[in-house]
Amino acid sequence: MKAVQLVGPRDLRVHEIPDPVPGPRDVLLKVAGAGICHSDLHVAHSEQPLFRRPVVLGHEVTGHVVDMGSEVAGWSLGDRAIVHLCWSCGECVACRRGDDNLCVATGRRAQPPAPGLGPDGGMAEFMKVPARFLVPLGDLDPVTSAPLADAAMTPYHAIEQSRSVLKPGATALVIGIGGLGHVGVQILATLPDVRIVALDVDELRLKTALTLGAHDTVRGCPDAAARVLELTGGLGADAVFDFVGNDATTATAVDAVAPGGMCQFSGLGGGSIPASAEARTGRGWPWGAWLRSSYGGTRTDLEACVRLAQEGRITIEVETFPLADALDAFRELERGNVRGRAVLVP
Ligand SMILES: [Zn+2]
Ligand SMILES: [Zn+2]
Repeated sequence: MKAVQLVGPRDLRVHEIPDPVPGPRDVLLKVAGAGICHSDLHVAHSEQPLFRRPVVLGHEVTGHVVDMGSEVAGWSLGDRAIVHLCWSCGECVACRRGDDNLCVATGRRAQPPAPGLGPDGGMAEFMKVPARFLVPLGDLDPVTSAPLADAAMTPYHAIEQSRSVLKPGATALVIGIGGLGHVGVQILATLPDVRIVALDVDELRLKTALTLGAHDTVRGCPDAAARVLELTGGLGADAVFDFVGNDATTATAVDAVAPGGMCQFSGLGGGSIPASAEARTGRGWPWGAWLRSSYGGTRTDLEACVRLAQEGRITIEVETFPLADALDAFRELERGNVRGRAVLVP
């Protein structure tokens, strides 16, 4: 089959590899769509031995069931399915309490295995998936649904974990209106009476945010947090979602969160968090404010995102590329030329 395979450090190829063969508990999907995430760019460019190679990339994957192992139940040939991002162990203390995105089987600061970052992913014609990591798509269009697996589930999880501060009348600040942020705005818009402030360096993205449910926009700049304070009576946002995570956005997040508010860091931009423990000095962390790093989401969160999409309450802006043109798609994403999410179609 044709696949987008990272062969070695900085060596990404579109070429033919053997078709995967499903084991007893696996389903074989004929891939319909595979989204490209910023973390794919990171993996493709990394020199670190952190990632297994060769590996087929792709962790936002949908497809049709075309084969399955002898022990698989509940699936039929032709069913549409989406692949869960967190291939957790199912048995550790985190998995047992339902936090499968925080599975600790691989260690304290690792992440659960994710397809395309360990096991082979879905930027290919076929993908082998353990059946327990599949969620039914119903009659959703599988091409435009592929990014639900990460671009929707990751913000959904961060928002779900902020519900205690997202009461009616609260303000939510969304930093970065790209793949994750443009869905995050739509999910926040489903909550009653939450005012949404969108922040980005790109004017066009801010315009998009307004059409998706944002009430105010702030242009990303060193004074962005001051602008958020102006909009919120000097107190800041009750929930801050940083979907970028570089030094500029983490500083804005710290300076824009309200006392008792919640800062959720989902962006993997490698920024550090410049806060001091004493609220009254330097870059003081406001009293009572929470700081949380948010990774992916649970299988339940993915099911909720599929439901929101089926109800038409979230729509993912998608730009499709043929699988054969994957390297062009990676380049366009890198140049910032992709609106919403790039999806490869075999
Ligand atoms: Zn991702
Ligand atoms: Zn586990």
